[in-house]
Amino acid sequence: MGTFAEIQIFAPVAPEQARAALIAARAELHAVDRLMAVQRPDSDVSRLNREGARHPVRVDVRVIEVLTSAMAMHALTAGAFDVTVLPVVRAWGFIDGHPRAPDAGVRHAIAGTQTLRIDPGKRTVAFTDASTQVDLGGIAKGYALDRVRDALCRHDIHSAFLDLGGSIATIGHPPDGPHWRIGVKHPRRAGELLGVITMDDAAMSTSGDTEQFVIRDGQRFGHIIDPRTGIPASALASATVVASSATLADALSTAAVVLGENDIRPALAATDAAGVFAAVAPDGVIRVSTSVRGGVSWAQP
Ligand code: AMP
Ligand code: MG
Repeated sequence: MGTFAEIQIFAPVAPEQARAALIAARAELHAVDRLMAVQRPDSDVSRLNREGARHPVRVDVRVIEVLTSAMAMHALTAGAFDVTVLPVVRAWGFIDGHPRAPDAGVRHAIAGTQTLRIDPGKRTVAFTDASTQVDLGGIAKGYALDRVRDALCRHDIHSAFLDLGGSIATIGHPPDGPHWRIGVKHPRRAGELLGVITMDDAAMSTSGDTEQFVIRDGQRFGHIIDPRTGIPASALASATVVASSATLADALSTAAVVLGENDIRPALAATDAAGVFAAVAPDGVIRVSTSVRGGVSWAQP
């Protein structure tokens, strides 16, 4: 998935137990990457993208699970979370690692999630449109973290901190205090924090245009696409969401960048999630707003 993973397990656990847990965790991460990365031609998702318009493609049960969650997130976010944005993401060079603005006037099709036919019984997926292409980049990291969290819990790990390229999940309490304190990066000033989130056993995800972007005519375009317009979303510079599952946090933070701080609120309320949003005001200043809930607090430096 083009990112680094960090897994910290806290004592008391025997070294062999920690090692077995880490091996299981790494296997989960590699499996999700192997199945879902569109950068890999041999992943289930890449195979689906090549063949799905011709016939139903049999995929791993985990791909069915993520696609099913993605459909639920599409419904919950009024269509803002849409895994069929891949043609546009590709056209902007965000898949091959060379971001660039596509030629003006060229429209890239977003077929829409209504063109997906998921059959959980047969474990197949098909496309009803020849232009459908799916990209699980906005949700797969969260799903991978949920799998790792489950794997560690099965190995009786009661305190852990997991970080997968901006998506975070925790187990239990930290070794040195009752709550996890996690810094949220400033979307424009490298090395600075926007603030600190305090939370218990939960998951947190940040999305935005800080790391993956293109500047064209002085305007910044990030890697999250607004499915309504077919161009990069510009509502927020960054969105951070804290939710009970990492899959949920991952998809909601991506959708928040599309919808903005007000329109994402119903989805956060429906899932009991909290959010911290950074918007760029017309004068260029970053303006922060929050939507907090019980068990999550926010402090600015
Ligand atoms: P994240 O870092 O989780 O916000 O994911 C960003 C990635 O999600 C992008 O690089 C695309 O692969 C994918 N993506 C972009 N726009 C959308 C969207 N509107 N809905 C779902 N996935 C998207
Ligand atoms: Mg996401």
